[in-house]
Amino acid sequence: MSAGSAYRNLRKHLGRVIFPALVLMLATGSSAQVGAYRPVDHNRLLKGEESSDWLTYGRTYFEQRFSPLRQINQFTIGTLGLAWWVQFDTSRGQEATPLVADGVIYTTTAWSKVYAFDARTGRQLWTFDPKVSGRTALAACCDVVNRGAALWNDRIFVGALDGRLIALDRRTGKPVWSVQTTDPKLPYTITGAPRVVKGKVIIGNGGSEYGVRGYVSAYDAQTGKQAWRFYLTPNPDGKPDGAASDEVFARTANATWFGDVWKTSGGGGTAWDAITYDPDSNNLLIGTGNGAPWNHHIRSQGKGDNLFLSSIVALKPETGKYVWHYQTTPGDTWDYTATQPFIIADLFIKDAKRHVVMQAPKNGFFYVLDAGTGELLSADKLAPWVDWAHGVDLGNGRPVERIGVRWGAGGNSRQNPGPPGAHSWKSMAFNPIEGLVYIPALNVTGNFAAPSHPEEYRHIPGTQNRGVGVQGVAPGKQAAPGALQRARAAATGDPLPSVLSGELIAWDPVARRARWTVKYSDPEWGMGGVLATAGSLVFQSVKHDLKAYDAASGREVWSYPLGASAIAAPISYALDGVQHVALMVGNGGGNGQGYSTRTDTPVPGRLLVFKLGGKQIAPDHIRTNRMALDVSRAEASTGDALAGDVFYNRYCRFCHGQNFIYPDLRRSPVLSSRTRFKRVVFDGLLESRGMTSFAAFLNEQEVEDIRAYLLRGASR
Ligand code: CA
Repeated sequence: MSAGSAYRNLRKHLGRVIFPALVLMLATGSSAQVGAYRPVDHNRLLKGEESSDWLTYGRTYFEQRFSPLRQINQFTIGTLGLAWWVQFDTSRGQEATPLVADGVIYTTTAWSKVYAFDARTGRQLWTFDPKVSGRTALAACCDVVNRGAALWNDRIFVGALDGRLIALDRRTGKPVWSVQTTDPKLPYTITGAPRVVKGKVIIGNGGSEYGVRGYVSAYDAQTGKQAWRFYLTPNPDGKPDGAASDEVFARTANATWFGDVWKTSGGGGTAWDAITYDPDSNNLLIGTGNGAPWNHHIRSQGKGDNLFLSSIVALKPETGKYVWHYQTTPGDTWDYTATQPFIIADLFIKDAKRHVVMQAPKNGFFYVLDAGTGELLSADKLAPWVDWAHGVDLGNGRPVERIGVRWGAGGNSRQNPGPPGAHSWKSMAFNPIEGLVYIPALNVTGNFAAPSHPEEYRHIPGTQNRGVGVQGVAPGKQAAPGALQRARAAATGDPLPSVLSGELIAWDPVARRARWTVKYSDPEWGMGGVLATAGSLVFQSVKHDLKAYDAASGREVWSYPLGASAIAAPISYALDGVQHVALMVGNGGGNGQGYSTRTDTPVPGRLLVFKLGGKQIAPDHIRTNRMALDVSRAEASTGDALAGDVFYNRYCRFCHGQNFIYPDLRRSPVLSSRTRFKRVVFDGLLESRGMTSFAAFLNEQEVEDIRAYLLRGASR
C-alpha cells in the first residue's frame, strides 16, 4: 500500500467514525435537479454578489479568488472528501479554472474542449470539441492548454488554441457563433480565458517567441462582430492600424522602438492571460508579454523602453481607448512578462482607502497601483532571492537594475528570477479578512547569455526565437558538445532555469512584506494556483497532493492525495447549502514541465470535486512503466548525433523537454527504425495528438540526425 492510499484509508475511517450524522444529512440534498438558468450579467459579476457561484475566471470582476463560503473550515475539514470526479480524454496539460452558475459546473481542457456537468452529481450535460488541428501545437510554447471559459447571459465563450473565439449556448453546448481572432497563417495561439464586460467579449493571444505582434480585441457577445482592437507593439509598416491603439502609438509608443529586427520578429507583447475589469473606474486592465526576440540588444538595438511590452495597460471597455499604462520591465530582455493575474481590492494605505490593482509579474516584484489612475503606490521584492534589480524607484516607477544584467550585447547574466519567472500564470488569491495575497512563487535562477554573433540573428520559423546564445556555459569554460553549433546555427535556446524552491508566499500588500511563507523543495512545476476562503483556508496543490493551510499562519491543516500533479487553481461553490471545492488535475506546460522524473508519466486529466463527508474514491491511474529500449536491437542510425542535438534543441525540446522526458523519448519504440521515426516526425503520423510533421523545417536526413541523437541518449 502506498503512503497515499494509506492516508486516504485513514481519512476515510476517521470520516466514518466521527461525522456519521453530518454525512447522512448531506446525502439527502444531492438528488436536486440542475437549477434554472439565470442570465449572468453585470450585477451578478460584481464583487460580493452570488457568493455561492464562481462566475468568471477569478470568481468576480475583482478576481480575488476569495470564496466567502465558510462551511469548510479548520474545524470541519477533516471530513472533506471526494463528492464526484470525472476523467477526460487527454493527458495534456490542464490549467483551467472551472466556472459555476445555476447548478452547472463548466470547465475547459487541453485542446480547448468545453464541458458542462451537473455540479451536484458530476453528470455530464454536454461537451463541445472545437476540433483544433493537431498542427496548432506547433505554435504553442507551453502545451495545448486552456485556462478557462467566460459566461455572459445565456452563453459561454471559449478561445480555441487556433485563435478562434467561440460562443456556445449555455444549455446545450451548441455553437452560436465563431470568429477567427488571429491571422491563421501566423503562429498565434489562445490559451487564456476570455472576459465579458458590458456585452463585449475581450480576448488576447499568445505566441511572442514564435514571431507575432500582440493585441487584444473585443467582440459583441450577441453577434460576434468585432468592436475594437488594441495593438500592444507598433505597426511594422509605420502606418496607423485603424485600431484603438493608433493614437497612443503615434503620440508616444512608436518612439520607444529602434532598429528593424522587431519588425520581422513580431515584437511580441502578447496578452495571453491577465484581462481584468475594474467596475469602479470602468477600466479594463490588460497584462502584456515579453519582447520578441527576448534579446533587447537584437530586438531594438538595446535602446528604448519598447511600449507596451511587460506592462499593465488600462483601456475603456466600450471603445478600447487608452487610459494609462505602467511598464513593470522597461526594455525587457529576460522574458519578464506582465501577463500575470491581477487582483483588484480596497486597501487602507496610510489610513486612506485606496482602490488598487495588484500584480506579481514574472520579474519578482509585487506591485500595488491605483486602479483608476495607474499611480504606483508600492513595488517590492517578493523575497530576498530576487536579485536582478535592487528595487523600484517609486519616483519614476523604474526598476533599479543590477549592473551587468543587460547581457544582450555580449557576456552573460545569471540572475533570479530566470525566464520561468518568480510568478507566472498560476493564480494568486486575496483574503480581505486577513489582508493577505497568497502567491505561488518560484525561486528560480537562469543564465542569460548573448549569442556569439548577435548581428547574425535571423528569425527561424517553427521554433522559439529568443536571441539567446550558448546556454549554461560559464565564461571561459569549454562549451559542451553541440552547444557551439546550437549557438551558431540557431541563436535560440533557453537559459537553463534552475528551480531552487517553490514558495507559497502570504504577502501583506499594506505592510509590503511576507507575513508567512511555505517552502517546497524541488517542486518543479508540480505546484498549482491558489484559492482563499472565508473558512480561513488557503488551498493549493503541490506535487501529487491538494493541501489546505491556515490563512493566518500557513500551518498545514489538510492534505489529500490527488494521484497526479495539478497546476490549475481550485475553486469553491455551494449548492443546497453544501460547500464544494473543485480542482482540475493534470500536469503539463512547456519544456516537459513537471515531468522531472520518469515515474511522473502523463496521465489523463481529471476534475475532482470535494465536499464535507464526500466518500468517493478516484481509482489510481494505471501507470505502465515502459521497458527501456534495447538500443542494440534498434536499426543503427546513419545520422549525425551532434547535428541532431542542434535540431532537437531547436524544434523538439519546447514540448519534449531538455531531457526527452515528455514522454520519455529514449524509451519510445518509434526510435527503433528509421522508417518508423520518419513517419512520425517527417510524415506527421501522430498529428491528431499534436505531434505534427516537421517537414516544413527539417529534411529527412535532419530527422534521422535527431534519431541518432536520441539513440545516443537511450544508450546512456
Ligand atoms: Ca514568454
